Order: sequence, then structure tokens, then C-alpha cells
Amino acid sequence: MRLSTGYWQTLKETPNDAEVVSQQLMMRAGLIYKTGAGLYTLQPMAFRSYKKIEKIVREEMDRINSFEVLMPVITPGELWQESGRWDAMGGQMLKFKDRAERDLCVSPTNEETVTDLFRRTVNSYKQLPVCLYHINTKFRDEIRPRFGLMRAREFIMKDAYSFHYDKASLDSFYDEMFTAYSNSFRRMGLDFIAVEADGGNMAAGGAKTHEFQVVADNGEDYVVTVPRTKFAANIEKAITVRKNIASSPASELTKFATPNQKTCEEVCAAHGFQITQSLKSLVMHTVIKGKDQFFMVMLLGDDSLNEVKFKNKVDAEHIRPAQQAELDRLGLVKGFMGPTTTAEGFKVIFDEAIDMNASYVVGANEADHHLKGFVPSRDTKPKNFRADLRLAKEGDFIGDDQIVIKKGIEVGHIFQLGDKYTKAMKVTVLNEQGKGITPLMGCYGIGMTRVLASAIEQNNDKDGIIWPASIAPYDAYLCFIGKTPETKALVEGIWEDFKKEGLEVLFDDRQLGPGMMFKDADLIGLPLRVVIGERDYLATGEIEVKVRKTGETLKVKKDELLPTVKAKLKELGKWL
Ligand code: ATP
Ligand code: MG
Repeated sequence: MRLSTGYWQTLKETPNDAEVVSQQLMMRAGLIYKTGAGLYTLQPMAFRSYKKIEKIVREEMDRINSFEVLMPVITPGELWQESGRWDAMGGQMLKFKDRAERDLCVSPTNEETVTDLFRRTVNSYKQLPVCLYHINTKFRDEIRPRFGLMRAREFIMKDAYSFHYDKASLDSFYDEMFTAYSNSFRRMGLDFIAVEADGGNMAAGGAKTHEFQVVADNGEDYVVTVPRTKFAANIEKAITVRKNIASSPASELTKFATPNQKTCEEVCAAHGFQITQSLKSLVMHTVIKGKDQFFMVMLLGDDSLNEVKFKNKVDAEHIRPAQQAELDRLGLVKGFMGPTTTAEGFKVIFDEAIDMNASYVVGANEADHHLKGFVPSRDTKPKNFRADLRLAKEGDFIGDDQIVIKKGIEVGHIFQLGDKYTKAMKVTVLNEQGKGITPLMGCYGIGMTRVLASAIEQNNDKDGIIWPASIAPYDAYLCFIGKTPETKALVEGIWEDFKKEGLEVLFDDRQLGPGMMFKDADLIGLPLRVVIGERDYLATGEIEVKVRKTGETLKVKKDELLPTVKAKLKELGKWL
């Protein structure tokens, strides 16, 4: 693109509503335009990068014999009713009716559509395995759309779905997909880790699932890692233990006054206990097999609940903290709740970090009072049970290793679905004996537009973006500083040469001052900046090439320019 006749606008100020650096830079550098809440237009520069991301993903998908289709964005409600997700999807699925009053939705994902496609087109084991993928628009009415493309409502996803005769085939294809994902993100120049993820209730059957997380301070996910063993798991899934925690031996159960001391911290500080000598009681409302149930979850005073583990443990469809009216109904006193109450209507679960034979401070279930000397094994009903429910935190161990927690942005997720959808939607294929069997499925997503934001979140400095060379909108920013027709003609010639070589160059021929051009060049952050300054060129015959990432500056003669630019781009990973 030639800027004098091009379409590109940058902003001088960072927009107020841009919270994270990638969003700020994408808005300032004119990459995205906010059309509505969680709805973005990709401007030409961003769309160029996006297409490069698509190309890499396509190549890696095609390489593992995945076939590209394009399923509709709008899907019939009946498919979702068949799978049981029409209601389960909740508010994030945008539903509506057509003029004939038929239910439709804007796809938040495509398991139902692809399963229906598969059952109508494939009927023999001989055609398996088969993997179909598409790259299309998804809509999820996220409760809190934020961070620009990172958590949008409308976004583009690559989603692939594979169908298998047996678990062995699913396992081996899953490994191929894992490699294809690793290759894709490596080629995009991202610093990522593949982490074990939560498989929901399906994981019990041995279903594998991994997330690909781009390491970034503004990530919304927490990843538990052990550097020595290279272990990495989403915090939702990681099993860690606490060591060396203070506890007290069993003693007599005694009530004591704790006026207005509602938290474990307040009670422990006022009465000289260590925080781990107290237990907090959280009351959770759940829906299990369509029925409301309450649980009181007991955790060490300074631990917090891992809601995903809890949801899986009790096999719930939904969970949330109980509301005041519900606590009143259960006869529980907020701030002073405890497990010794005679109130009925809920089960008590103890986290496994709790020593069932030690004594703790707990709420007395009476305003302004707590109990000390509470021994879980002695002072509660036998039907209560234990589970690993606490959220891992810094200082925890896995074996002998202390964990390190990192923040990440989930850019991809691969998942063994097993027969969840094929069973619900009654899919069968004929086996060798002509008997119908239910095929197994895997699903594999990449947040294509989220990748774009993550690449910037990870690669920037105070002046702007530093694009990984393989996905930069252009390879180089060509600046012309001068006035005479001769040098203008020379630069035009250089631009033509670049194009002939297949290089993509943004040509700044706006005749602005160098300061303004360099500022824009840094902001858009193309891998190389090539400057032809008339005065220098006429004096020395030299052209400047600057590497955005390292700041390295080279002076080259005109006939060395092309080979230098190509060599630098190669070094930077353009042809990965
Ligand atoms: P998250 O936990 O971030 O909401 P998810 O688990 O709902 O993600 P999947 O259903 O696995 O995501 O979707 C596949 C991929 O789509 C994700 O790995 C992510 O990269 C991307 N994605 C999901 N939700 C959004 C969104 N609101 N905006 C942009 N990309 C998204
Ligand atoms: Mg989500």
C-alpha cells in the first residue's frame, strides 16, 4: 500500500476504554474499530495479518488430512434440542425465530452441526477416521466482553471435529492435532505452553484435553507449572498440596465471642490463631440432574474454592454461591456459618488440605460467635465427605517441586469428546460385521482473532507493536525523505523491485517529516524499516535498514538492499 493514496488512520491518544496493551495498540495503530460492545471491525492492516494466521492454520490442518468445509453461522434450534444443549448453553447463545416461528441460533460452536453433517454423509467404518474443519464467525453473548478481540462477542474460530472407529484412532489423531497446533503457534512466533486442561465430567473416562496458552501478564487464565519436570496444567485442573502448615492438636469444642469478626482473618488476628488453624465455610447452590442442592464447602482459612473442581466433583450442571435469602432459609448466619449446625438441607464437604483430626476455629452459626477446638472427624455427621477442592496457589508443591503460576491467554483447545454428541444424536456407522457402532469424536478450536490480539499482547514496547515476521501485515515500512524527482523515481523503483520479489511493503510517500513517519513506523511495528533519505543517499549512496525488534541498524548500498532485507526477514521467521 502507498500511504498517500491509502486508507490507514492512527490515533494520537490511547482510547479510554482500552484496558490492555494489545487493545490499546490495536486501536491506536488503526487495526481495529469498535462497532459495538464486543463487536469489532478488522481494518485492512489487521485483516492482512489475520489472513496470514489463517494460511498457517490451513496448512497445518491440511497436512494432517483434515478437510475444510464451511458450515452455516446460523443453525436450527432442533439440532441443539437433540443434543440437549438448547437450554444448557444459557445466555451466551443468541437465539431467535425466523418468520415461520422456527427456532434458530447464532452458532457459539459447531458440534451439533458437524455431527448432523457426519451422520447424513458417512455410514461405514471404512470412511473413518475423518476430520472436518472450518473457519467461521462465532457469537457468544459473553457476560463481560473485554480486552478487544481477546474476549469479544463476535469472533472468528477455527474449529475442527474428528470422528473415529475406536479410542486408539482418537488417541493417535489427537496426538497429530497436538503437533499441528504446536507447529501453528510456533510458526506464528508465539511464546506458548500446552497445558493439561479441565475435561469437565468427561475427563473421568480418560478423555484427554489440552489448552494452548500464550504466556502474558494480561491473560485471564492461570497456569500451574513445574519448571524442572516441564509440567503445566490449567489451575482449574492442577492437583497441588500445601506443606508445613500450622495446625493444632484436638481439643475441647468451645464457643467464644467474636463481635463483628466475620472473616477468618479477623477472627484469627483478634484471638491469636494462625490462619491455617481456622476453616472457612462457603455455601454453594448447585443444580444437579435438574434439582437444586446446597453444599457447605470447608476450606483452610486462607484457601479459596476451585469452582471447576467442585462442579465436577458434585457433577453439577450449574453452581453459584448461595444468596442471602437461601442462607436464611437454611438457617445459616452469614459471617458466622459453621458445619456443626443442626440445620438440614445441605451436605458438608471438607477439602483434603484439612487435617480431619486436628482442631480448628469455625463459625458457631450464631451471630458474633465462633467455636474453637472443632475436630472435623469428631464433630460432624458421618455422611460428610472429603475432596480436593482448593485452588492451587504460589508456595504449593507437586511432589517435591514447588510450583510456579503463570498467566496465560487461551488461544487453542483440543478435547476428546468421546461419544457425548454421537450418542445423544444417535449417530452410527456400520462395522466390518455390518453392525452399527457409535463413533467417537474429538473437537479442536483455535481463537483466530484472539491469536491476533495475543501476538500483540506478547510483542510490543513503549513505541508500539513488534510483529512476529510471519504474521505482520507487511514485511517492511519504506520511508522516503526527500524532494527531488530523481530520488522519488529511485524510491519508486525500489518499491517496484520489492513487489517483484514478492515482498510486501508499506510505502510511506506522504512527504511528512521523518519524526512523524518514524513514529507511525514504530507504532505499526513492521519487522523492518527501510529509509531512503535524499541527503544521505546523495552523499554516501547508502540506505538504512532498521530491525524493529532489536533496533539493529544497517547501512547498505542499493544493490545490497534486497538481499539484506530478505536475509533479515528470514532471520526474523517470515518463512517459518
Ligand atoms: P474461554 O475460557 O476463554 O471463554 P472457551 O473455553 O469458552 O474459552 P472454547 O469453547 O474452547 O473456548 O473455544 C475455542 C477457542 O475460541 C478458545 O480457545 C479461544 O481461543 C477462542 N474464544 C473463546 N471465546 C472467545 C471470545 N469470547 N473471544 C475471542 N475468542 C474466543
Ligand atoms: Mg468461554
